[in-house]
Amino acid sequence: SAHLRNVNKFYGPFQALKDVSLDIPPGKVTCLIGPSGSGKSTLLRCINVLELYDSGEVRIDDQLIGYDSPGGKVMAANRLREMRREIGMVFQQFNLWPHMTALQNVAEGLERVRGLKRPEAQARAREALAKVGLADKEDNHPSHLSGGQQQRVAIARAIAMEPRIMLFDEPTSALDPELVGEVLGVMKQLAAEGMTMVVVTHEMGFAAHVADRVVFMERGEIVATGSPRDVFNNPTDPRLASFLQGYR
Ligand code: ATP
Ligand code: MG
Repeated sequence: SAHLRNVNKFYGPFQALKDVSLDIPPGKVTCLIGPSGSGKSTLLRCINVLELYDSGEVRIDDQLIGYDSPGGKVMAANRLREMRREIGMVFQQFNLWPHMTALQNVAEGLERVRGLKRPEAQARAREALAKVGLADKEDNHPSHLSGGQQQRVAIARAIAMEPRIMLFDEPTSALDPELVGEVLGVMKQLAAEGMTMVVVTHEMGFAAHVADRVVFMERGEIVATGSPRDVFNNPTDPRLASFLQGYR
C-alpha cells in the first residue's frame, strides 16, 4: 500500500500539488483522472522518487519515501535507487532499449539491478513475457514490434522486478486506437492477480470497469474520489461533472 499525507510540491513559485492526501490500498486499482496540468504525473513522480515533494509525507508500506525522516534530509542517492527498484513504472513512451531484443530488455534490469545471473534473469524474463502474451516475440527488437507489443514488453520489464506497486502514466495514450485494448487487457489481468496499481488514464471505460477507486484531480488538488459508480454515474462535484462532459 501507499499513503500520501498533506503533500505539497512546487516547481519554483508554481504549486503543482496542494495538500494532497491519498491512501492507495494494497491489491487494488486506483485510477487518477483530471485535466492536463492538474498534477497527475507529478503525483506519480513523487511516489516513484523521480521528484522530491516539498512538505508532507509519502510512504510505501510504512516506509518514508525520499527523506530520512518526516521533513528531514533527502535520502542518500544509493537509498533513493534502492527505493526506486521497489516501484514499477510504465510511461506513455515505452522507453525500451532499441538495440536489445524484447528478452534482453526485460532481463537487463534483473541482471544489473537485482544481480541475477544471466540464465536466471532470462528465465524470469521469459515468464514475464509469457504473462503479457509475448512468449513468441522474445527475439524481436522494438522496431520489429507493434506499439502495443512494445508497451507490453515495458510492462513485462516492470513486473519482472516484482515491484511492491505499479504506476502507469497514460500507458495507452501513444498507441493507435486498435492497439489500446491489448495493453488494457494485460493491465486488467495484473489487477485480477492482486497487483497494487495506480493508473493515470484518459480511458474512462477502463477506469469505470477496472478501478476500485477513482480519484479526480484539478489544479494540483484532489477534488473528488469514490467508486467508479459514484464518480461516473453520480458526479456530485460540478468540476468533476464538467470534466466528464468532455468524454461524452
Ligand atoms: P497531463 O494530463 O498533460 O499529463 P498532468 O496532470 O500529468 O498533465 P503534470 O505533468 O503533473 O500534469 O503537471 C502539473 C503542473 O506542473 C503543470 O502546470 C505543469 O506545467 C507543471 N510542471 C510539471 N513539471 C514541471 C517542471 N519540471 N517544471 C515546472 N513546471 C512543471
Ligand atoms: Mg501527465
